[in-house]
Amino acid sequence: MIASLLGLALFLVPQEDAAAAAAPAERPNIIIIYSDDHAEAAVSACGSEITRTPRLDELAAQGVRFSQSFVANSICGPARATILTGLHSHANGRVSNGTPFRDGLPTWSKLLQASGYRTAMYGKWHLPTDPNGFDDWGKVSSYYTRGVQTADGFVERPGYSTDLITDLSLEWIAEQPREQPFAIWINYHASHRTWLPATRYLTMFDDRQIPEPATLFPDFAGKSPAAALTQMRIAEDLFPAYDLKLPVTGDQILDQSAVSRMAPMNEEQRAAWDAAYGPKNAAFAAAGLKGEDLVRWKYQRYIKDYLRCVAAIDENVGRVMDFLEEQGMAENTILVYTSDQGFFLGENGWYDKRWMYEPALRTPFFVRWPGKIPAGLVDDHLVQNIDIAPTILDWAGLPVPEEMHGRSLADLARGAQPRGWRDAIYYHYQEYNEGRIAHRVAEHDGVRTAYDKLIRVYRHDAWEYYDLRSDPLEQHNRIDDPAVAGRVAELKRRLAAFKVEFDDQTGKPYPASEAEAD
Ligand code: CA
Repeated sequence: MIASLLGLALFLVPQEDAAAAAAPAERPNIIIIYSDDHAEAAVSACGSEITRTPRLDELAAQGVRFSQSFVANSICGPARATILTGLHSHANGRVSNGTPFRDGLPTWSKLLQASGYRTAMYGKWHLPTDPNGFDDWGKVSSYYTRGVQTADGFVERPGYSTDLITDLSLEWIAEQPREQPFAIWINYHASHRTWLPATRYLTMFDDRQIPEPATLFPDFAGKSPAAALTQMRIAEDLFPAYDLKLPVTGDQILDQSAVSRMAPMNEEQRAAWDAAYGPKNAAFAAAGLKGEDLVRWKYQRYIKDYLRCVAAIDENVGRVMDFLEEQGMAENTILVYTSDQGFFLGENGWYDKRWMYEPALRTPFFVRWPGKIPAGLVDDHLVQNIDIAPTILDWAGLPVPEEMHGRSLADLARGAQPRGWRDAIYYHYQEYNEGRIAHRVAEHDGVRTAYDKLIRVYRHDAWEYYDLRSDPLEQHNRIDDPAVAGRVAELKRRLAAFKVEFDDQTGKPYPASEAEAD
């Protein structure tokens, strides 16, 4: 409550006085643990039916879980640009993994650093400019790695990324002066493709079959043509050596990349790997699977490796929690866990993300702050990754720049019910690529409310509408159903209004006049 009142008071004073007004001792440390592609369906606190994540569940139970947490653009680089700036992709420049990031924009890291916080970032970065606003940083961007890219060059530090990123982060925290608050962004590479587990998890799940999603064998009838054209199919688009850990044969696509990703392993790791996958691959070769049986095998191989990577995330989140406890820092440290986006774990027959459908749009999102955030709180307001930067600034007692699109979640996290909370979120994806190894997800935008969703796939001039109450798996596109025509028209106007509100002129325009005509 004190911190919250202090935040309110600071909001009313000029920005240049804010840092001086906040007494360092009263400002919390902030740790953001950010995983990559970790879907809610792989977190037991979010209702996973396929795995258990005991340490993440513990974290969720000790604070607030945002049960309706969404991204603005479901892909890695853009998600990072959004959480730094509090802006939708078109406003920070990073609309796809191939576009520039406007590094001159205000970010939470720069503003916290300027206000007297010590700041750091370790792990996956995925922006074209070096980390800005961080006193110390180290980039780690593959599972098995030889070391860390820092501001001073490459530092040799072989290891398994999820463990190494945690090591680097905890070492940094231990070095910080206790009289000064810190903020650290811990960016795991896991559970991103190509899902290389730590050696201690290589045989986890070997003794059981993971349940299949209801739509593993998809039916795209009624959806935009873009759905069937998407190249994220478990059946067709997982590559033998690169994704499925089958032997490198020399004639497979992405073989070379599969070899290079294994290269940093030491002899012991490589031996453990071969001992685990050798017999499993031999059994696969002997079985001669075809058709649906082959797809089912690919799903098992994919999902088990994915969940093995999640197991190391869960373990390392636990290491951070244990460390804070041991150091007596848990009370004055805000601990956030979320992911850059969700992921398809076989839904619609897919892996990967990008689409505005629920598995990719949603993220796990927990915050613990003992004594300030009630334990066990579940908040179901619509929150989005544009809100993270404003929230961090608010927690640090700093004013939120007016140009940020998001809104502080600090009140929601306390269990308050702020007036005028948003009743819909705006989404815009625009990384379209063609080719055998491209994902080929057509550009689309849309609106999601508490209970329904409108998607405009503008490459194909196609629309989709789902009522999530009766159709949570988004299998029945009702865009032409007269019974919902009024609602669809309302959401089309809403989409046009979002374009104006956020001044999004990228992609294909959708002016209000067109919404009225549609
Ligand atoms: Ca990602």
